[in-house]
Amino acid sequence: MKTISKAKLPELLEQLSQGYKVLVPAQVEGVSRFTIYQQGLELALEENVTMPPKDIFFPQTEKMYKFKTQGKSLDIEEIQPEESLQVIFGIRSCDLKSIQCLDQVFLTKGFVDKFYQDKREKTLLIGLSCVKPMEACFCTSMGIDPQQGEGADIQAYDLGDKLGFEGITEKGQSLLAKVANFLVEEKVMLPSMEEFNLTVDIEGVPEKLKEMFDHPIWDDISRKCLNCSVCSYICPTCHCFDIASEVRGTDGVKIRCWDSCMFGEYTAMAGGHQPRPGKKERVRNRFLHKLRYFPERYNMLLCTGCGRCVVKCPVNLDITDVISKIKKA
Ligand code: SF4
Ligand code: SF4
Repeated sequence: MKTISKAKLPELLEQLSQGYKVLVPAQVEGVSRFTIYQQGLELALEENVTMPPKDIFFPQTEKMYKFKTQGKSLDIEEIQPEESLQVIFGIRSCDLKSIQCLDQVFLTKGFVDKFYQDKREKTLLIGLSCVKPMEACFCTSMGIDPQQGEGADIQAYDLGDKLGFEGITEKGQSLLAKVANFLVEEKVMLPSMEEFNLTVDIEGVPEKLKEMFDHPIWDDISRKCLNCSVCSYICPTCHCFDIASEVRGTDGVKIRCWDSCMFGEYTAMAGGHQPRPGKKERVRNRFLHKLRYFPERYNMLLCTGCGRCVVKCPVNLDITDVISKIKKA
């Protein structure tokens, strides 16, 4: 396997930055997230980042097009996409899986989202294996291997004071060839994964949920929810958005921004009808979407076991607890 000492990694990233926009996990204003690599930046490689990488492909707010009105005529100006190719270094297996979920939504079944597609096609993914799960990680319960991510162009392995690299796709192999001067070939032993603190049994849950739309369990599960939407915003797979216009005089811009099914306004209709009037209906939708509707439509769960919502929900509405309750009901 090709290896590099962690001390030399900044030099490799520096070289990559000459030809690509390189995004790495780091602390940014007190929050760990992916950010553009620059000299002197301290990388956050010990554990997964708080903010998932979804905003790299699906930004929190994104301009779709500009427009100008003149009397009854309307001129539309497209927003030109960024030209640069990008590399994301250090994506954990759970977040690689979440990108596969987003690919299904934005690129398949005849609905191709050109904003997402453009960024996705210009991106090369470097996965990073985990050695020690965090307190709320439960990816293995969701069928994910934390040491071997799906969908990476290159997989990096944490070998203690070194990193090992394996080129998975052709794009990944040719990127590794470009930085071959930093790498040495050697035989390595991959470290074994430490025990998970959190596990859950998901077996049969998507099928069981087909009969549970009107089950009283939703009253119990939703009772403490604040409908604050932290769980959706922090989730690497949640992908709902709203579209709005900002207009000044004759000039305007169409913008899309993240939205959440946990908000009442999300389903409010112009005529006043509200199909999800209370938090029971909203919480139920969140879990049915992740555990039943998405598997039905795309044959995969919309939860990767990253544990972010488990940590950040202010009232501890824990998805693993919800899955266990459904299993027992
Ligand atoms: S973070 Fe917790 S309280 Fe907030 S909307 Fe999600 S489940 Fe409800
Ligand atoms: S539902 Fe929670 S645990 Fe699952 S992917 Fe989203 S944030 Fe992670």
